[in-house]
Amino acid sequence: MTHSPENLNSEVESSVAGTITIDSHDIIQTFSPIAERLFGYKSSEVVGHNVSMLMPEPDHSGRDGHLAKYWASDIAHVLGVDREVTGLRKGGTAFPMHLSVEESVFEGKPMFTGMVHDLTVEVANRMSQQESEGRFRQLVNCIDEVFMLRTLTPVRYVYVSPAVEKIYGLTADQVLADPEIFFDVIHPDDVAELRETMAKADTSSRLEFECRILRPDGEVRWLWVRYSQVATVPGDPPLLAIVVSDITVRKNAQRAEASARAEAERANAAKTEFLSRMSHELRTPMNAILGFAQLLGMDDLSDNQHESVRQIIRGGQHLLDLINEVLDISGIDSGQLALSSEPVLVSDVIDEVMDLVVPLVAARNLTVLMPTGDVCHVHVLADRQRFKQVLLNFVSNAIKYNRNDGEIRLTCDTRPNGEFAITVSDKGIGIGSEELERLFTPFDRLGQEATAVEGTGVGLALSQRLIHLMGGRIEVESTAGVGSSFTVLLPLAGGVESRTVEQGSPEARTVSATAAVPGRSAALTVVYIEDNLANVRLMEQLAARRQGITLIHAMQGGLALELITSSRPGLILLDLHLPDMSGEEVLRRLRAESITRRIPTVVVSADASPGQIRRILEMGASGYLTKPFDVEELLLWFDNPHRMEGESP
Ligand code: ADP
Repeated sequence: MTHSPENLNSEVESSVAGTITIDSHDIIQTFSPIAERLFGYKSSEVVGHNVSMLMPEPDHSGRDGHLAKYWASDIAHVLGVDREVTGLRKGGTAFPMHLSVEESVFEGKPMFTGMVHDLTVEVANRMSQQESEGRFRQLVNCIDEVFMLRTLTPVRYVYVSPAVEKIYGLTADQVLADPEIFFDVIHPDDVAELRETMAKADTSSRLEFECRILRPDGEVRWLWVRYSQVATVPGDPPLLAIVVSDITVRKNAQRAEASARAEAERANAAKTEFLSRMSHELRTPMNAILGFAQLLGMDDLSDNQHESVRQIIRGGQHLLDLINEVLDISGIDSGQLALSSEPVLVSDVIDEVMDLVVPLVAARNLTVLMPTGDVCHVHVLADRQRFKQVLLNFVSNAIKYNRNDGEIRLTCDTRPNGEFAITVSDKGIGIGSEELERLFTPFDRLGQEATAVEGTGVGLALSQRLIHLMGGRIEVESTAGVGSSFTVLLPLAGGVESRTVEQGSPEARTVSATAAVPGRSAALTVVYIEDNLANVRLMEQLAARRQGITLIHAMQGGLALELITSSRPGLILLDLHLPDMSGEEVLRRLRAESITRRIPTVVVSADASPGQIRRILEMGASGYLTKPFDVEELLLWFDNPHRMEGESP
């Protein structure tokens, strides 16, 4: 290249780099303004001086004297190639600079033009990047997670952290050499899904999935893999950063928990099934025992025989109470007993309970002191039937464990915390302090089993569970030889008029429907659908007690429907457990047909759950008798099949 001094200067001026021209003796000929800013010298201070003043030791010495020669000899290397050297500013500070050299000829003499860029900022950046890279490596080397960087398709790993060996049993070098090597260890069942997921890696900015690996020792490990695309160098295609965690411990714990839960659910389902079977299986024979005993009791018997019948009925009743209580307790414990809390008028429940115990109170000549005024005209939130059951348990205990001519007192009061308390106190035998703590243990009768007082020891245990389920609690105070007081505390029902008249529930309607109705005058055909022969025999005997009754028996639902259509009975008695179809289905079909729709149908079933009873009555059953049923109650249906409608046939 050939230059005139003018164009040499203007070229120097316009250059973005600092430009320094030296001759073959290293003497500076030109020094551009940018070079002035870079080195801190005025052009006049350097032109005519040796270029070594711009370079620190050892760069300016030991190079055969002439830097120009050095520059020139290096031209082959430096042309077009970045070279970093160190510059020396006025004042003696060194700085990194980039130098490229061109040789030219001026007036027949060789000239060397060095173009100089300051690299201070760049080098500082590079150093901090190296430093953070160092820190990053330190971090990924010591964490348990595997960290990898790879290209998108085609897959090539750029970085693989050493943890890959701990988790996969592969070395980082193996992975760097063969990206497909992972598929050698992926669990065979997960390979297809993993390939599918990995195919999405190029198009998704983030991905995460779980997969299993099968290690050479046969151990299966669960991995949690997260992909995220990262832009490294602007303009370059993104890389995929991959973090892999070993989640085997967590996964195994989750699986153990899930299988324990499934096992518990299976056990619970089996328990429910068992309970419902037990309920049916125990009640069905009890129906025959108590039914036939009641029938016997209606006969002309000697005093001794009457006493025997009374014993059978008492024993049977006791067994039935026990069955009911045990089934209730297990139902609560397995979460199967559903209660429906609603506002219940306390005074109504007290009245119903006290009506039931009148004969017992009279038999022991007890004085009963009832709350005065409107103090119990309060609504509490409770399941009406269960609340009554609990109160009845308290009152019958107060009678049973009292002394003759003793006293029972009922009191009600509202507690400041919004609870309503109903207390039953007696002046009976009381309970010793060491026995009090066993009071709610099922079957523990606190020594009363040795006395003549009858009981199962389950009532209070059941009461406590029931009241807890309703959001209430029970308090007990007792002193041996002095007396006891049992309090049930229930939440007050807000927003209910205290004098609202309670609507009886459907089953209450059935049970209390004992109103006298005119006797049946005409002949009555009754179809009894039942598959238990002992119960059929009992029903036959009951039917024989009434004039003009023809009892037709069907063991199966389908057959019964045909029989009913052809014989048009005046009353249908229906068991719910039938061999060919459910009693509910029979009822539904009876109600759907215009010919059979109006025939009174009474369900006679061993299933005593309130929900079931309510549902059956809502489906249109005229009544629901739970086995073992009260013989007198059944005879009332024979006497007047339309008794619930209040009409005579
Ligand atoms: P049980 O059927 O035996 O009456 P409960 O569960 O109702 O069963 O009561 C458990 C035990 O608590 C009773 O057997 C009796 O020993 C004692 N108990 C309950 N109520 C009273 C009471 N009012 N006075 C004295 N002891 C009572």
